[in-house]
Amino acid sequence: MQRLAADLHIHSCLSPCADAEMTPNNIAAMASLKGLEAIAVCDHNSALNLPACEKAALRCGLVFLPGLEVTTSEEVHVLTFFADVESALDFGERLYKSIPNVMNKPEFFGEQLVMNEADELIRVENKLLPQASALTIDELVNACRKFNGVPVPAHINRQAHSLLANLGFIPPELKFTAIEAYSWIPLSVENSERYHIIYDSDAHCLGNISEREHFVGAYEKSAEGILAYLKESKPF
Ligand SMILES: [Zn+2]
Ligand SMILES: [Zn+2]
Repeated sequence: MQRLAADLHIHSCLSPCADAEMTPNNIAAMASLKGLEAIAVCDHNSALNLPACEKAALRCGLVFLPGLEVTTSEEVHVLTFFADVESALDFGERLYKSIPNVMNKPEFFGEQLVMNEADELIRVENKLLPQASALTIDELVNACRKFNGVPVPAHINRQAHSLLANLGFIPPELKFTAIEAYSWIPLSVENSERYHIIYDSDAHCLGNISEREHFVGAYEKSAEGILAYLKESKPF
């Protein structure tokens, strides 16, 4: 097994809360400049910028893990990672239908920009993406695994929109194998040795993308290799 310098939670300009500078090529170039070997772009409830982000990342020699950051009906944020962009897009399509039909107000929330691999605007997404899905956390975890994805509770030690803040514990029946935490907040999780713990930036602007400071296990230097590591249960 190898360990890759990684940042597996970066928002692109499709997330209304992210800066417009978070284009596919800017993200890949900055990640490469910082010495990262692997990245995941996880926009709120959408996979639409993953095709362009993957192409930009591969051109920079990075491993690209396709992901989304899902908001469950309990307002818990869960990262969902997939082996390939196609699976992430299929899952994203399913998820999109579970989000209320409330339109974005760009002047208030920010633009939601879908780009191509040349950082050109393809279209503007009008439905407000970071809303709570109708899927409960159980339904979300099942849906993600149906697409062979790995669900990872996001920023578990954050005071809002996290599994611990909203539910108070990690439900064992959900069989999570990995959790994400902010490195700058103390982490107190019961039986933490059961989980792979990943640390990411949750960057919404280029400067916040991680330095070469956090590493993720990988059985080979590929999205599948990282996914296999995150999926694996740890002996308890
Ligand atoms: Zn979040
Ligand atoms: Zn996020």
